[in-house]
Amino acid sequence: MSSLDASQLALPLASAPVRIAPAATSPLDPRNFSPEAFHEAAASFGMIPEWSRRLMARVVGEGIHDLKVLEKKASLSRKVVNAIGELPRLRLVDVQLSPVDNFMKLAFATPDDLVVETVLIPLHKPGAVSLCLSSQVGCAMGCTFCATATMKTRRNLATWEIIDQVLQAREIVQQEGRRVTGAVFMGMGEPFLNYDRVLAAAETMCCPYGASICGKNITVSTVGLVPEIDRYTQENRRFRLSISLGAATDEKRRQVVPVAAQTPVKDVIAAAQRHITSKGQGRMMLAYVCISGFNVGEDDARALGEVIGDMPVRLDLIDVTDPTGRYQPPTADELNTFRDALQRYLGQPVVRRYSGGADIRAACGTLAAQSIGKGV
Ligand code: SF4
Repeated sequence: MSSLDASQLALPLASAPVRIAPAATSPLDPRNFSPEAFHEAAASFGMIPEWSRRLMARVVGEGIHDLKVLEKKASLSRKVVNAIGELPRLRLVDVQLSPVDNFMKLAFATPDDLVVETVLIPLHKPGAVSLCLSSQVGCAMGCTFCATATMKTRRNLATWEIIDQVLQAREIVQQEGRRVTGAVFMGMGEPFLNYDRVLAAAETMCCPYGASICGKNITVSTVGLVPEIDRYTQENRRFRLSISLGAATDEKRRQVVPVAAQTPVKDVIAAAQRHITSKGQGRMMLAYVCISGFNVGEDDARALGEVIGDMPVRLDLIDVTDPTGRYQPPTADELNTFRDALQRYLGQPVVRRYSGGADIRAACGTLAAQSIGKGV
């Protein structure tokens, strides 16, 4: 088998229990659809496009969930409001703010008492915040540096559960006079294992009467599922795609991203090349988690240069954050030497990306809230 697709990966690793079905909501919940799909669903309930647009604008654009307020503000009939029914919410169960870098982590309980986490990332632009969103509870990819992979229960998040992370984070941000200007699917889960719901959420997030986040500021990050990268390319989506390599050789990738590494790295790069060719411009964003003594040597830089070749890329270097201490980030010397070597063997832009909130376990690879008991 040269490559994997999401349907094969929606299976448990080892003996971890998996519930694939996401949490249910009203068949008329605008948070649970892309805008286009919502208009279709609403039409089957007799709603004209103007009403369904109005409903999405109130629920997603303004964050109104109270049915009485909705009835009044969206000028909807009682019959339509009754058809909508209750809109479930994620329950905010924990908020942590890093005194080091102002990263904030929110923990939400789902209706079935699982916990997902969302990270609020303050950007350089004053008042601007980007969200790191979760797409699944747990993750079947098994990356050895990632705490999410150790979670015992796994399931896909519903589209509404993704959108509700955005709405509740936005509420907090707005109370502080700030605004959400971007989002990245780099929290818990591999977004391409929950492809349809993640992309529906992204479409609603960038819709002008949805969450109004610019599509170019929404990034979908994958560890390299080739059929889904190709599907994404063929669908000509407007969001940014980032591929996380882990290592440049199949042998090393097997050690840190074991499931993704069942696809040879050259096949992942070929899919990235097809993506960038179809775009006709720009650079492919590649993320690379740097681990001291493992993947930041001269050989690794040479292997990256060889496998990437002439494809235009921007390589984002991210320090590993491993609360267990098994993996350490590179020392300053190691990193400088690695960057010099990349200059020689790759000769393309290399950016060191800050993975903040380490003190509150909000950094890349550290999200791992477990399920909670009833009544929290
Ligand atoms: S790094 Fe991403 S893909 Fe890998 S186990 Fe963690 S959440 Fe899943």
